Amino acid sequence: MMARWGCDRCGFVAWTPDRASMREVTGSHLLAHHSEAVSRSDFRTTWDCPYCATAKTAYDTDDAVEEFKTHLHEHVADRIEEGVHVGERVSWDGTVQVAAPVDSADADALRAHFHDGGDLVIAVTASPERTVRLLHDELEAWPRRTVVVSTEAYPFEKAPDLDFSEIPIEVVELDPRLGPDELGETVSRIIDANRVAGDVISLEVSVFHEIVRSFDLQTACDFVRMLSARLDDDGGVLQLYVDADADPNVSTVLNFLDDEIDLKVAAEDGRFVRRG
Ligand SMILES: [Zn+2]
Ligand SMILES: [Zn+2]
Repeated sequence: MMARWGCDRCGFVAWTPDRASMREVTGSHLLAHHSEAVSRSDFRTTWDCPYCATAKTAYDTDDAVEEFKTHLHEHVADRIEEGVHVGERVSWDGTVQVAAPVDSADADALRAHFHDGGDLVIAVTASPERTVRLLHDELEAWPRRTVVVSTEAYPFEKAPDLDFSEIPIEVVELDPRLGPDELGETVSRIIDANRVAGDVISLEVSVFHEIVRSFDLQTACDFVRMLSARLDDDGGVLQLYVDADADPNVSTVLNFLDDEIDLKVAAEDGRFVRRG
């Protein structure tokens, strides 16, 4: 769980590991809105708070700016919520675009965060071992049920330290010739077979770049729309792990899916921020 703060002047939202680390986020963000409140004249730097009558003057600009950021933070500190999950932003029922290179530590941080909040975790990935390792290393406890779907075989002989008879996990190996439609149907059947009443579903799709590369725009869009519609029945968060900067075709498909995507989120320096 994390601390959350949303700016009431713009759509910016940030989640940090705790309340203390939110101080830098709020201060820097509010300073950007009120940069005109800092001025330098007569060899000294002055800040004049837009929210109250406080004004300060100092010789050292860096010190003055830091003090102003701390001051701005105090104006919003009581609006920081604690014990919050990013999934709550979409009421655990929606589609989230995770904007990060698919194999990056930033993407992993969001995977761990979302899957930590799920009871039934389904991960569609090109690197099943990496996914299992992440869950094993980063989650305090395994979700009630995890199903990893991949066209790659799980390298059981290379990972002998994980005893699959002791963790509630299943690895489904898909025929690489199958298209998005069959992949979607497989995921739907996995939900049917594994979901129990009250489960929160965390569904990760980390193969969207491959889908866009191999199929036409309509097929890629239909895949996301149908998965999202499938989750409408049972609730749950569909996460699309995509790096639009790395592939203009992915960027185009995402534009077509704009109405479908409820939240766009990225990771930066151990915190999560809403994008766009
Ligand atoms: Zn703002
Ligand atoms: Zn003030």
